[in-house]
Amino acid sequence: MQRLFLYFILLFPTMLMAQDFEVLPLGVYGGGDESNLSSYLVRDYQHQNYLACDAGTLRAGLLAAHKKGNLEQTPMQTLQNHIKAYFISHSHLDHLSGMIINSPEDTNKPIYACKETIETLRNHYFINATWTNFANEGESPVLNKYQYKRVKEEKLYSIEETDLEMSVFPLSHPVPSSAAWIKNKIGNSILYFGDTGPDRVEQNGHLNTIWKTVAKDLKEGKLKAILIEVSFSNAQPSDKLFGHLTPKFLVEELQSLAQYAGIDSLKDFPIVVTHIKPDGNSIKQIKKELKESNGLQVQYIFPEQGVPLLF
Ligand SMILES: [Zn+2]
Ligand SMILES: [Zn+2]
Repeated sequence: MQRLFLYFILLFPTMLMAQDFEVLPLGVYGGGDESNLSSYLVRDYQHQNYLACDAGTLRAGLLAAHKKGNLEQTPMQTLQNHIKAYFISHSHLDHLSGMIINSPEDTNKPIYACKETIETLRNHYFINATWTNFANEGESPVLNKYQYKRVKEEKLYSIEETDLEMSVFPLSHPVPSSAAWIKNKIGNSILYFGDTGPDRVEQNGHLNTIWKTVAKDLKEGKLKAILIEVSFSNAQPSDKLFGHLTPKFLVEELQSLAQYAGIDSLKDFPIVVTHIKPDGNSIKQIKKELKESNGLQVQYIFPEQGVPLLF
């Protein structure tokens, strides 16, 4: 009995330490509600500072987290002192409008994105006709607050003051889009997807390449969660997906991941469902369709604005 007690005493702190990442959703939808658009703060659980994966909504999400008691600091303190970098998956407004609108009060930080996304920011958003150039390139006056970082595939980037590293993959969408594979110092990771269509519809192997690359880490328990979009219910015709996934196609893609990693490694694995377009009863319908087709027995998580997820 005494030995058992000792065992729990010794084990308990390590159980508490078991988390690798906090993901704090600031916005979870793929349209409609401008106060709740794609943005997920990611931090190594041992560190205070975040990488923002997309920035559709910032302030409303930080405020929601603060009101719910999930953020000690004020929204502005978090934005200014603890979000150390942005990863912008692609140039659609629902992934970056929060960053633009909050830029006057923001502090200096890098923006990581593929070169096409940076070009759009540089030529269409951070310009005098639509806003002000808070970045470090492009139209004068150049205010030099944000540093553009053009990310290349197969390169590893250390994210300043976060203890995180990131590599990116291309995705298929009406504009170039990317996924970020975010690792901490001990090599555990989460995988964040920008908007993407399924390989079968897009007629390419972008997702297949990702599944092949991350399979080993999933198998070894190092990949802790996947955040991936489901924009429409299965009622959406395949020729009207506009580079998005439905429950049916997500399941198809996860089956392709299972082929590389083994079915067992997906059992209870956290799949965070992002980017639902909240029209009509689509939220309810998408949840229902995912639940009914969950032969792989993954753990679907539907994120809530301002409520942190631990992995
Ligand atoms: Zn989107
Ligand atoms: Zn998009």
